[in-house]
Amino acid sequence: MIIPLHPRLAAAELKELEEIAGEFGVRIQPIHGNERSIYAILGDETSQDLINRIEGLPYIERVDRIQSPYKLMSRESKLSHHRVMVGKKSLPGDFCVIAGHCTIDPNNKQLFLETAMAVKEAGADMLRGGVWKPRTSPHSFQGDARSLDILLEARAQTGLPVNTEVMDFDQLKLCVEAKVDSLQIGARSALNYRLLQQVGEMTKDTQTKVLLKRSMHMGPVSEFILAAEYIVAQGNPNVMLCPRGTVPTIEGFRNSPDESITLLLKERTWAPVVVDPSHSVGKAVYVPFACLAAAAYGADGIVVETHCQPKRGMGDDPKQAITPDVLAQLIRDTRQIHASAARYAPKAAAT
Ligand code: PEP
Ligand code: MN
Repeated sequence: MIIPLHPRLAAAELKELEEIAGEFGVRIQPIHGNERSIYAILGDETSQDLINRIEGLPYIERVDRIQSPYKLMSRESKLSHHRVMVGKKSLPGDFCVIAGHCTIDPNNKQLFLETAMAVKEAGADMLRGGVWKPRTSPHSFQGDARSLDILLEARAQTGLPVNTEVMDFDQLKLCVEAKVDSLQIGARSALNYRLLQQVGEMTKDTQTKVLLKRSMHMGPVSEFILAAEYIVAQGNPNVMLCPRGTVPTIEGFRNSPDESITLLLKERTWAPVVVDPSHSVGKAVYVPFACLAAAAYGADGIVVETHCQPKRGMGDDPKQAITPDVLAQLIRDTRQIHASAARYAPKAAAT
């Protein structure tokens, strides 16, 4: 819907608008009210170039799109009934829990294997473990490819599928070769559109999951959904959207908790939402509350940093990893809350 700056377009302005519409194969239908007129776009209005051309006209205030800019991620897309499997859980619908270390210590395999067994016993559906780490400082530990072998050994011992972050094409290739079950795109890489495409291309027509974090620099939720569209457009619809806190504005929390956007994501897309409470609030004692909140907002799962001995952990683990005991209790509690929240799911978001 095109809203002009003034009550009505002059004849020459309407003509110019119609010419632009014609270039994109759509038509303009004026709707005249008593006070002012608005102008409908008839046809496919998903082209961003079309919208930019119209919004660039000096006599246009704005264009309100009715069709969503994401063709594949929208609830109207042919993928709207797609389900993503995490272990035995089918999302959306079931509630899944992904748990494990922020960072795998390449020199302490036993510690990760101990955590892996403990999160399995607690009832987790997938094991997480950081092999390569995006660190703010180049002097911090950057991860180690040897940790990939440890992650694979943990998979073999527990039978749990595994998730790890990839930041570039080489890491992606290694993980695809190793048949890593779920590739994480971290908050810092979520705006790396070429990497998103490469992930989609390399995992096209496979069961590989992609856990896409929301960048702390993303604004409107449509920006997040369009990032997922990059992956799905290459042929892999097994995407999970992961809010993980946005730029910190609340002193005391590591990032600004954003689990509430689960409601908006579910209204606009079919993709499951798996919230990361750990990076959102950033402190182990706060994490359980953020997990419960995520379930209450209707999330399809949580990804929680968990460590059998957080004090001996690396990266984020000493400050924000919960223990397997806490995880076990949380799995019971979040499942209950998830079931309660489902009763309030709006029609469009019902699963
Ligand atoms: C992580 O999961 O350990 C991580 C680095 O996450 P994020 O990209 O959300 O900061
Ligand atoms: Mn971390």
